[in-house]
Amino acid sequence: MNYYKEYTDVDLSNLKDWERQAIEIFKDAVKVCGDIYDKQKNSNCPGGNFYPCEISKEQLETFAKENPEIFSPYTMVEIDQMGKISAVKYSQKFEKEIAQISEAIEKAAPLYEQNGFSLYSSYLRQLSKDLKNDSYEESEKIWLKIDWKVNVDIKLGPIETYQDKLFGIKRAFQANLRITDKQYQGELEGFISVAKAILPSEKDGAKDDFILKVRTDKVIAMGGWHADFVPRTSSYPRDELVSKEGIRILVYTNNIISKQAMHKKIIDEFLGLDFEFNEQKFGETLIRLAMLHEVAETVSKSNHQGARNKIGGQADAVFEAHADLAGIEIASIQVLKGVLTATEYKFLVIAFIARILRGWAFRKKGEYALSAYGDGHQMILNYLLRKGGLIFTENNSIELDFQLIFTGIDLLIKELSVLITEADANKIQEFFLEYAKDSKNLEMIQDKLFKIVFED
Ligand SMILES: [Zn+2]
Repeated sequence: MNYYKEYTDVDLSNLKDWERQAIEIFKDAVKVCGDIYDKQKNSNCPGGNFYPCEISKEQLETFAKENPEIFSPYTMVEIDQMGKISAVKYSQKFEKEIAQISEAIEKAAPLYEQNGFSLYSSYLRQLSKDLKNDSYEESEKIWLKIDWKVNVDIKLGPIETYQDKLFGIKRAFQANLRITDKQYQGELEGFISVAKAILPSEKDGAKDDFILKVRTDKVIAMGGWHADFVPRTSSYPRDELVSKEGIRILVYTNNIISKQAMHKKIIDEFLGLDFEFNEQKFGETLIRLAMLHEVAETVSKSNHQGARNKIGGQADAVFEAHADLAGIEIASIQVLKGVLTATEYKFLVIAFIARILRGWAFRKKGEYALSAYGDGHQMILNYLLRKGGLIFTENNSIELDFQLIFTGIDLLIKELSVLITEADANKIQEFFLEYAKDSKNLEMIQDKLFKIVFED
């Protein structure tokens, strides 16, 4: 498989020559990340190729007691003909590929330096070293410090753990190369300040004023896990939620727009609009939805660090769902302030319903990487159905009662906030189970919805 995706429709004409040059150089590095990922991924084994497929989970745990490297995020576990288990560092296993990545990023470093971005060039040089040392902290620290006057940004390395379905430890290679999409920056700052003002915190007194920066970008190339999954957003650092340098969120605007047609089909099939559809506005609405979710999620996770640790496994689903709803709430405040129009807001809510229908479909199909979203979407959907906000008609379309949707969202945010504050994993599980009981109506639309979501 070729895990490299290039976007040829991004307008680069406003970039400087050296920036275009850097892009060409970086593309090689992105491609090679795809090659490594191809060697790590194996859909036929829960542990991918990170562990020998024939070795059980329990056996691996036993071996790891003697050799902790088996559970390093940056090793491939192998078995030889004698049945001996060993852990090989990524830097060794993928030595040739890593040398190619390093060569590319070191070649781009002087371009940044010569054009006044010396911190960025140190990031690139450090990343090159980190790849060879299987330790990514130093380059991550520098990247978090970079101010985003830099137009062309690349983020690559072994980062996400979704491909290790056995333990969720091993990091798969991924890469994304982007340029800033400045259109949404102003709107974003507004969302961040509202989120910080309205979302409750478990800390007494003044809220933690951590740094949260969001960058909206157009993707030029994605490699590895990112080319496979095509995410809408990413958030860094992955390891510790609050670092001294704060949190950075990347929003990939053209990835979001690429899913636009599917959401439109869901609206056409089940929801309908009582105002004129405008394609560009719809794309903006979906981007807004993603920004709101990410901002709300990051702020509330940071406000409830203690609860998050206490809740454990269930935390993701609760915080995902809470973020969806809190995002809608933030938007409603922006309507009161006159930043968003009432129609923009209505469009947002309809797009959100389309999105949770899609999430419900993923949940039904048992797609792994999306389960936390899927659980939340299923719960929200059933909650709003029971509150009467969504009404199925005889011909299986859904009528929206906006008044009941808004009060339903309000109530659900309150219920989730209580669950988060109490941090009782059992209660959370019960709550999600209660709203995992799908109505007959949802089952009636399943086939049609699956067709739209999975066959396009
Ligand atoms: Zn999220």
